[in-house]
Amino acid sequence: MKTLVQASTLNALMLGNFDETVNVKDFLHHANTGIGTYTGLDGEAIFEDGVAYKATADGKVVTMKPEDGIAFGTVAQFDESVPEIEFKDIKDLEALKKALEPLVKDNKNVFYMIKACGNFKTMHVRSCFPSEKPYPTLSEVARNQREFHHSHTWGSVIAVFCPAYVNGINLPGWHFHYLSGDKTQGGHILGLSADKISVKINKIERFDLTLPRNPEFAKRDLCEDLSAKTEAVEGSKK
Ligand SMILES: [Zn+2]
Repeated sequence: MKTLVQASTLNALMLGNFDETVNVKDFLHHANTGIGTYTGLDGEAIFEDGVAYKATADGKVVTMKPEDGIAFGTVAQFDESVPEIEFKDIKDLEALKKALEPLVKDNKNVFYMIKACGNFKTMHVRSCFPSEKPYPTLSEVARNQREFHHSHTWGSVIAVFCPAYVNGINLPGWHFHYLSGDKTQGGHILGLSADKISVKINKIERFDLTLPRNPEFAKRDLCEDLSAKTEAVEGSKK
């Protein structure tokens, strides 16, 4: 059975808990693929083939070291041996979600991870600048992000689907990140289009959550319903 390994909760991140929850080495101990963000909310994390990449707000992609810290993220050991499904004429991110719907509709109470490879006609991504302590909330940081519009870029979309009942712990529905094949472009996806992409999907029925150990985490009220703010910041709608 596949396991979704998660570091921290989304509400903790929303409220500014940007300290390290786990380092890259431990996070990828039993996992090779996923998404997240680093200590200080420094850039967008993309984990591919067991390597941790950071798409920074100044438009670069760098490879992270084993001792670098992850504030929040979700990873799994992605099974590449599953059949490839071809999607055609993906006009926007909503069209991609619609194309994915038949693959998840029979059971939306489990997690899924996809890897979608292809040549993207357009790829609209964002990344956040790192924050210093005392950390602001994620909504405040989101005003200080950079957006990039790439065109004709080849690479991988890595996305995680979470069930609605994990609201507050993670983002219900799909959360998409991008990394180009040459590892020079990437980020949190706000929009995309492609004539043809190949999709692999893994169903995940086990969940492993590591909670932060910084003292601020212990004091936070993590029960507040932040779903509207979360969708505004972490969702794909803008
Ligand atoms: Zn993201």
